[in-house]
Amino acid sequence: MRTLEDNGLMKTQAFIDGCFVGSADTPVTDPASGAVIAHVPNLGADAATQAVEAASRAFRPWAAKTAKERSATLRRWFELIVAARSDLATILTSEQGKPFAEALGEIDYAASYVEFYAEEAKRIAGEILPSHRPDARILVQRQPLGVVAAITPWNFPAAMITRKVAPALAAGCTVVVKPAPETPLTALALAELARRADFPAGTFNVVTGDAVAIGGVLTSHPAVRLVGFTGSTPTGKLLMRQAASTVKRVALELGGNAPFIVFDDADIDTAVEGAMASKFRNSGQTCVCTNRIYVQSAVHDVFVARLTERVKQLRVGCGFDDGVVQGPLISERAVAKVEAHIADALGKGAEIAAGGKRHALGGTFFEPTVITGAASDMLLAQDETFGPLAPVFRFETEAEVLQAANATETGLAAYFFTRDSARVFRMMERLEFGMVGINTGLISTELAPFGGVKESGNSREGSHHGILEFTELKYACIGGI
Ligand code: ADP
Repeated sequence: MRTLEDNGLMKTQAFIDGCFVGSADTPVTDPASGAVIAHVPNLGADAATQAVEAASRAFRPWAAKTAKERSATLRRWFELIVAARSDLATILTSEQGKPFAEALGEIDYAASYVEFYAEEAKRIAGEILPSHRPDARILVQRQPLGVVAAITPWNFPAAMITRKVAPALAAGCTVVVKPAPETPLTALALAELARRADFPAGTFNVVTGDAVAIGGVLTSHPAVRLVGFTGSTPTGKLLMRQAASTVKRVALELGGNAPFIVFDDADIDTAVEGAMASKFRNSGQTCVCTNRIYVQSAVHDVFVARLTERVKQLRVGCGFDDGVVQGPLISERAVAKVEAHIADALGKGAEIAAGGKRHALGGTFFEPTVITGAASDMLLAQDETFGPLAPVFRFETEAEVLQAANATETGLAAYFFTRDSARVFRMMERLEFGMVGINTGLISTELAPFGGVKESGNSREGSHHGILEFTELKYACIGGI
């Protein structure tokens, strides 16, 4: 691994009740080389229980602090993250594979949630409502929920943590994080910075190890009041079922199957830029990545030609090498899925315009791929590929493409490109997705509510909406006035 300016950020123990604990025995590998870069503890139910209990003890004192005090601690954490952005990005690229520039971008994005919720901590207000009786008053207060569990994926090892943890801590909750087994080191570095920011012991815990055992505790322990999860739809459904036994709140951000629609009145260069940004970021491994590109007949060939030209220029390689914009995929399983989607599509009549196979670099590197002649009966239309495969579907009418775009159980992000303002409103209102990018392929920001509808999830992260998830309304009726 590349050397860090601050070696103290390379933590290889879990963080429970303010201490780094556990013996490092499970390997973490660099997906670019397959080399083992560190070991972290393989903890289970006992450690998860200890973390929940520590978080439970820390909850009342943390919630009792003034919003301004909590805000100041979050602000210190934000500043420490920004100061360590280069080291954090180095750790992130080493365990996740994304190009270093993208990793820096993720650290800035992750930090932006901490900054935003440090500010937002001070703006959780209650209300006094008109009363049903002249001698009574109705007071409504927002109180923190309690202990929050956060189970996070490997594709954004930093941002998926801060997006949950920062609003929870700002609201007065305490947190237990279970990071993805592929990317625990970024989580532990964030924990070290939280320690330096002086979060009290137990407010922020990170438990690495057995997902099923740790997840079992996080979804059943009575002290946990919310389970926040970003990951696959099957795992989200499982956690939701498990959390039902103690009626926990469940905040899910699950898979997508994003349509990307180019109408014949679109600016084609803008649409191609949008497709590149939304399809190939993180080598196609984000839940808002374009999965299906629909192009109207009149502009189909010109769009495909320009997209293909751009895709062929993408430089694939190790995330630390200059000019690389496409890193390796996270695992062999991820590569196998892309291959299966391509084979299925070719078998059903699609054609390759660029790429199409494993990259000459070997390992889990894959050629950025464009295929044409995609159709709704192909696997790639029904399932999220989560890799660098851009399938292009041809369409004729707005009604037809709207129906095709909505024909999915998921509803996270959708994109469309047009210069017709009436169509902007029609499409925006009728697309069954939680987020819609119009004439842009980049929509993520801490300032907006991120989340999906249908099987893509049930909550929103970011903006002032994202903090309310971590609060409970309490109504008090004051009589005898
Ligand atoms: P992926 O297949 O992309 O890794 P997952 O949904 O399996 O997606 O993983 C997202 C997160 O959920 C990871 O932190 C993973 O360890 C965790 N996870 C997977 N299965 C379980 C489970 N049964 N209980 C708790 N967490 C789980």
